Amino acid sequence: KDRGRNGVARYEPRLQEDQAHQLNLLTAMRSSLKQGEGFSLHYQPKVDLATGRVLGAEALMRWSHPAHGPVSPAQFIPLAERSGLIVELGRWALREACRQAQAWRSAGWSDFTIAVNVSMVQCRRDDLAHDVLTSLADSGLPGQALVLELTESVLADSADALHAALRRLRALGVTLSIDDFGTGYSNLGYLSRLEVQQLKIDQSFVRRFLSSPPDRAIVETIIAMARKLGLNTVAEGVEEPAWAETLQALGCHTGQGYFWSKPLPAEAFWSRFNPLPAL
Ligand code: C2E
Ligand code: CA
Ligand code: CA
Ligand code: CA
Repeated sequence: KDRGRNGVARYEPRLQEDQAHQLNLLTAMRSSLKQGEGFSLHYQPKVDLATGRVLGAEALMRWSHPAHGPVSPAQFIPLAERSGLIVELGRWALREACRQAQAWRSAGWSDFTIAVNVSMVQCRRDDLAHDVLTSLADSGLPGQALVLELTESVLADSADALHAALRRLRALGVTLSIDDFGTGYSNLGYLSRLEVQQLKIDQSFVRRFLSSPPDRAIVETIIAMARKLGLNTVAEGVEEPAWAETLQALGCHTGQGYFWSKPLPAEAFWSRFNPLPAL
């Protein structure tokens, strides 16, 4: 039985587009959020390909429906985006991720960095920079320890207000990363202007780059371009040791994927990856 790529998608309705079903899901999400139950963050390590050291984690949202159990993010995130609920959910994720990251830094993992996904819907609102500032201030997390993963559509958006907000975030020391790079439309000219510092090579290229010459060419080109622009590169979806080795040889800095670990609940992530000497 296919339980989805993360083993969480136990609840697969037959009619995905069924309106009543979507509305039910949305109602359940709203009440989960209101009651502070059902939503959690899982953490997936980001690894320095040269040294094998865990540098930090990406926070990935999980939701368990009160009656049906875990629902895949591929299902509930798009619904949250279409309905606007992602604004409140994203705000919660940002606060929770900053709180957890600072707790781990205080516990002794002092250079731990956390990456949080930010939807385009959140970027279009004018309070994004304010939300980030509040999360940093309330948690005590330094801006330098926070990475925001934005989608490529941010590069294509020409709204001055958005660019001003992104510049404010950069001024706080926050790293701006372009998620799923290479899959969307992007205006490459913005790569330098927005002070983006990191490109995440989409897993669709990483998955095939050793077996498919065109995908290999794309991966090599992204890494080479990033290097020339002085940007960091993260390869996502790394599942095999050979992929990690080759990516490192090509000049990619950071890897993320099942080869190291699936996204884990906070306690499991800490006990498996914290760098503190065992007592
Ligand atoms: P993403 O940001 O591109 O996250 C990477 C996805 O790939 C995650 O799926 C992760 O579990 C999965 N993954 C990681 N390593 C591997 C691997 O080696 N092989 C394979 N096949 N997959 C791997 P997940 O957790 O189901 O999340 C799906 C998408 O949902 C994310 O894609 C992101 O776009 C969205 N999402 C998740 N959490 C949040 C959030 O807090 N806010 C927003 N706006 N979006 C989120
Ligand atoms: Ca991401
Ligand atoms: Ca991604
Ligand atoms: Ca993706």
